[in-house]
Amino acid sequence: MDTLGYITENAVVPDVAIIGAGPAGLMAAEVLGAAGICVAVYDAMSSVGRKFLRAGIGGLNITHSEEYSLFCSRYGGYQHALRLSLEYMPPNEIINWVHGLGITTFVGSSGRIFPEMMKAAPLLRAWLRRLAGYKVEFYLRHRWLGWDSQGCLYFEHPNGNLVIKPKVTVLALGGAVGQN
Ligand SMILES: Cc1cc2nc3c(=O)[nH]c(=O)nc-3n(C[C@H](O)[C@H](O)[C@H](O)COP(=O)(O)OP(=O)(O)OC[C@H]3O[C@@H](n4cnc5c(N)ncnc54)[C@H](O)[C@@H]3O)c2cc1C
Repeated sequence: MDTLGYITENAVVPDVAIIGAGPAGLMAAEVLGAAGICVAVYDAMSSVGRKFLRAGIGGLNITHSEEYSLFCSRYGGYQHALRLSLEYMPPNEIINWVHGLGITTFVGSSGRIFPEMMKAAPLLRAWLRRLAGYKVEFYLRHRWLGWDSQGCLYFEHPNGNLVIKPKVTVLALGGAVGQN
């Protein structure tokens, strides 16, 4: 793509660019930020965690209290591919992480685990406060359009488009194509 006209001067070039400010992108930012790495998170939307907030409308189900091997079996044919991710952050670690943000939880009658307040917003606010303590910057209304032939990322933004070449890029764009 022709990136002529895109701003590169004075642009902050992070060590790691994370594209997508949903839970996956925020968790990547937390892990990298805690390691002292300079991170920039870009999102096409004007605020972070939009779908996550929507998830909280009907009551945010964080995880499940069932026995670990049964829990893993819920992923069906994908459980082996997901094994490392599940081992890295099994349900009890997710609950500890939520508690670490100051959010209390309860086990519902179905065995599912929810925040006491049921909503996602308090958790998201506490999460963003934690990220504010790290070298994590947010760039909203930055829609990533792809890479150019030099391997630079380019973003569309209402006040001027942007081209940067970070050392590492993490794509955390969510699931379905065309969802935004
Ligand atoms: C109604 C509803 C209820 C739900 N309930 C629950 C629940 O109770 N418990 C639960 O665990 N999950 C629930 N979910 C699912 C949960 O919301 C998703 O699993 C979660 O948001 C996925 O996180 P993610 O970071 O992978 O993707 P997303 O949250 O989709 O984040 C991806 C981000 O990438 C950005 N993006 C995409 N393309 C670009 C681009 N080209 N340039 C810049 N930015 C881009 C998007 O704007 C978005 O902010 C629910 C979802 C819905 C819709």
